[in-house]
Amino acid sequence: MKKGSLITKITLWFSLTIALISVAAVFITIAVGNSVIRRGIRESLVATVLDNYDEIEFYTEYDRLEFDDPYDVELEYKNGYIEIDDDFIRSVNGIDTSLFDDNGLLYGDGTHFSEEKTPPFQNKTVSIVKDNGTTYYVYDTRLSFPAMEGGGLWLRGVVSAEYSISQVNTITKAVLVLLPFLMLLAVVGGYIISKRALSPMLDIRKAAEDIENGSDLSKRIEIEGGSSEVRSMADSFNAMFGRLEDSFNKEQQLTSDISHELRTPVSVIGAQCRFSLENEDTKEEYAEALELIERQTKKMSRVINDMLAFSRIERGAAEIQKEKLNLSECVSSVCEDMALIREKGITLESDIENNIYVDGNFELLTRLTVNLISNTYRYGKENGKTLVTLKKNGDTAVLSVKDNGIGIGKDDIEKIWDRFFRSDSSRNSGGTGLGLAFVKEIAEIHGASVGVKSEKDIGSEFFVTFPVL
Ligand code: ADP
Repeated sequence: MKKGSLITKITLWFSLTIALISVAAVFITIAVGNSVIRRGIRESLVATVLDNYDEIEFYTEYDRLEFDDPYDVELEYKNGYIEIDDDFIRSVNGIDTSLFDDNGLLYGDGTHFSEEKTPPFQNKTVSIVKDNGTTYYVYDTRLSFPAMEGGGLWLRGVVSAEYSISQVNTITKAVLVLLPFLMLLAVVGGYIISKRALSPMLDIRKAAEDIENGSDLSKRIEIEGGSSEVRSMADSFNAMFGRLEDSFNKEQQLTSDISHELRTPVSVIGAQCRFSLENEDTKEEYAEALELIERQTKKMSRVINDMLAFSRIERGAAEIQKEKLNLSECVSSVCEDMALIREKGITLESDIENNIYVDGNFELLTRLTVNLISNTYRYGKENGKTLVTLKKNGDTAVLSVKDNGIGIGKDDIEKIWDRFFRSDSSRNSGGTGLGLAFVKEIAEIHGASVGVKSEKDIGSEFFVTFPVL
């Protein structure tokens, strides 16, 4: 147990509380027990005497005696016979019951007191008598039989108050013997439970340290057992590590993608400069070289802009503001604007169902539609056709952008959504290879899925399926 560790603190706190509770429990037991037992002993004195009272009868004729039990006691007395049933208990729980008449003891163990201390009979009263340093409770009850001549009889019960104290002492002793064991059990149990409960925390700390030391973001916290709270904490940490790893990987990918994409134009510019410096003489030749350099520069600038916009969306996906948006209006207005392009003589037609609402971001959904339509111009054939449709289908709405352009080869179809992918046939199209990656990212932000059907030289159809509001 390390000093100051959480386990030590919990165990100490646990032990201290248990000790305080135990001491309080002992005091309460002694105090309450004493008074309860004292009260209890008075009540049982009265009850015992009254029970015995029912077991005494008086008969004037001997024949009337009931000899139903060999243990019954018969006493010849005055003008008849006293019958004491065998259920009469002379001594029980420290209570002695005896039968007296005005002259003295008739049956039982008699008085416990010296002559001068013997209390007078008092009908149905508990009195306290002190004799020889001992306190006694005394309870008398009068027995009168109409057939009996002369005065009646008295039944007296006596019990020593020490008897109750000895009972309290027995309980106290039992508590005092049991208590250290119970405390030991509580402390050991508390230590084991807190150690077990906290051991997953140590796993978590270890995993965090491993990540920090080794920069291994793929490491996760593995917990066997542990409480559900600790497991859910570990899950949250794992989710956080997952997000960190994901964004770290994205960052790395971005850096390598950008440097890869910029390497070619930078090399081309460098080579062109060297060549021109060494070979070109005329103004026209220099102008041609500069045009090539300008084209490469524009390309680099497009890559940088697209890449920055893409990474901004990718990184800030969680903060993007969305609202109830009329997707039909958004797609219609893009179609209207882009129909004016008429590049390569391509015509754009649209069939858009009205008032389809989604939870969306206007700028991003405009960008998604623009990117899909731009590709139909870029990869379309002369005098081709583009058809944009938006239709509701149950809980979803499907945006389709279809063309009769150059189509996509089977080998490429899986890769077109990757950043910077361009098929061999479209290398010189002027695109950056980020258009469809944008489409996919924007779709994901909106909980939508993307798909494509395409056949080489026949045409392509891109789908985006949105959940509708
Ligand atoms: P780019 O900037 O090159 O257009 P995209 O991500 O938009 O990048 O597209 C990736 C690749 O997918 C393109 O280079 C092209 O080969 C293919 N592609 C995309 N749209 C179409 C289309 N409508 N018809 C044919 N090929 C397409």
